[in-house]
Amino acid sequence: MVTRLPYNQCGLISIIHHERPHEDRALEHFLPQGPFARLPLPGNDEHPYRSAIVWAEATKRAERFYALDQNGFARAIMQRLGDDVGNAVPVGRRWIYPLSAQYAQRYTAPRLALAGDSAHGLHPIAGQGLNAGFKDVIALTAVLEERFAKGGDLGSPDLLMRYQRRVRPSNMAMMAACDGLERLFGNDNPVLRFGRDLGLGAMSRLPNLRRAFVKKAMGL
Ligand SMILES: Cc1cc2nc3c(=O)[nH]c(=O)nc-3n(C[C@H](O)[C@H](O)[C@H](O)COP(=O)(O)OP(=O)(O)OC[C@H]3O[C@@H](n4cnc5c(N)ncnc54)[C@H](O)[C@@H]3O)c2cc1C
Repeated sequence: MVTRLPYNQCGLISIIHHERPHEDRALEHFLPQGPFARLPLPGNDEHPYRSAIVWAEATKRAERFYALDQNGFARAIMQRLGDDVGNAVPVGRRWIYPLSAQYAQRYTAPRLALAGDSAHGLHPIAGQGLNAGFKDVIALTAVLEERFAKGGDLGSPDLLMRYQRRVRPSNMAMMAACDGLERLFGNDNPVLRFGRDLGLGAMSRLPNLRRAFVKKAMGL
């Protein structure tokens, strides 16, 4: 059974071509209406400087942006992107997905284990979905290797439960953290804004704290 907690937001996804190279840097703006991220992509002959954008908005607003013509969509992107990589225009098609946090009550069934997005779905604000899936695979591989070395059934319920016990608590914590970030940044309450600015200020002044945060964000 899967529990789904809808955000009443949609993610808008598109590819943009921009004036200046991204130099393999990603960018995320935490806006009260929803986060806006630019993620670097390799260029091609037609568009040497390309990025993907992942942009969350309340469902009604997202649908309006999704329906804009190409010029209107480009203007809305530029308002959020700023001068990060110069002028940018969307290329190709765009996608829209409803966003929700979700988690499977159990990661296991007879001779079956869930890993990655089949076991958990996170708000994209922290870009942690893929990392969480990798951690599941690493943990599952480890328990399978242990059993393989000792000999025995690789699909036994106790083994699969051991995998679930290793990963589900940290996945639930990550889901709660992403949910908390979404609430913290998707809010214009002055008290929250003050706390948030204090935290971000500390991060920019304290390189060790910043490095620890970056390592965590990279799933290390
Ligand atoms: C726009 C966007 C941006 C993201 N950005 C980030 C990010 O910056 N960092 C990050 O860590 N995560 C990010 N994520 C999340 C990340 O992409 C997912 O968490 C990750 O791809 C999940 O991997 P997965 O293998 O579990 O599932 P998927 O990547 O969904 O793979 C499942 C595969 O199974 C196939 N499939 C489904 N049903 C069947 C079937 N019945 N039979 C056969 N095949 C089937 C599907 O076609 C698919 O290829 C982002 C997600 C999106 C949508």
